[in-house]
Amino acid sequence: EKTGWFARLKQGLRKTQVNLVGIFTGGVVDEAFLEDLEFQMISADIGVETSALILERLRERIKLKGLKTQDEVKVALKEIIADILRPCEASLNFDEHKPLVIMMCGVNGAGKTTTIGKLAKHFAQLNKKVLLAAADTFRAAAKEQLAVWGDRNQIEVISQEKGDPASVAYDAISSGRKKGMDIVMVDTAGRLPTQTNLMNELARIRKVQGKAMEGAPHEVILVLDGTNGQNALMQAKAFDEAAGLTGLIITKLDGTAKGGVLVALANSREKPLPIYYIGVGETIDDLQPFKADEFAAALVG
Ligand code: GDP
Repeated sequence: EKTGWFARLKQGLRKTQVNLVGIFTGGVVDEAFLEDLEFQMISADIGVETSALILERLRERIKLKGLKTQDEVKVALKEIIADILRPCEASLNFDEHKPLVIMMCGVNGAGKTTTIGKLAKHFAQLNKKVLLAAADTFRAAAKEQLAVWGDRNQIEVISQEKGDPASVAYDAISSGRKKGMDIVMVDTAGRLPTQTNLMNELARIRKVQGKAMEGAPHEVILVLDGTNGQNALMQAKAFDEAAGLTGLIITKLDGTAKGGVLVALANSREKPLPIYYIGVGETIDDLQPFKADEFAAALVG
């Protein structure tokens, strides 16, 4: 139920903050307080630029509405942050393509495999027929792991004996079309933005999918580790340049993540990328749709 994961998110975000909530002590709202607030926002991974923007909006509101108390300022801050986050609220559209082809990417350890498992189960619960493409052909064990996992959860996994990732993706999509699947999820090997060859490979894996199905992949989702802080911005930019991202999933927000990076991501481009889900733990129920108001409340509420 909602309270369980929300409490965990809230606790997680507050664990390391020095902190955004803690500076609201009920004192006066003066210049020193606002400067302190800006510093805390930067410390919470919101970033210098976005923190300055938030502070500017906050000052306007304080003036316009004559806010006096820290409680009033806190409410205003939460609203301003929610407004920045709101354009990232979006859900996957299952109706336009059959199958909907989703390519998943990310650096090693971001939580990609865990997230794919959660997503596959989530889709199955929505009565969608899901096919997984084990296009992580880099790690020898990855394929077997996925196959075992697929068996256990009655989800079909396509892999190849000596597979090239692009060809695994191609086969899976072709097979998914024949079998009337609703969703084909393509797992790719973890890679770093600095690994140029692997980033180019990602572009190729993407391109080949369009030959198996016009317009595929329909979604290219980057899985980001929420504890990585501002580094996530760099990753999002690099993966977008290589593979044309359509959305994000941010994991580990129950851990030591400060969470402010979501605000920075939302403010990092003209049209921010959708954040389809957030990961707040290791079980299937710990993948939650991203909601701007909820997240802002967890951060400063
Ligand atoms: P991959 O290398 O990107 O495939 O990463 P994995 O899926 O293997 O995840 C790396 C570690 O992060 C594992 O120990 C997962 O259990 C853990 N993990 C993934 N998502 C979450 C999350 O939302 N919360 C927490 N606490 N741990 C997570």
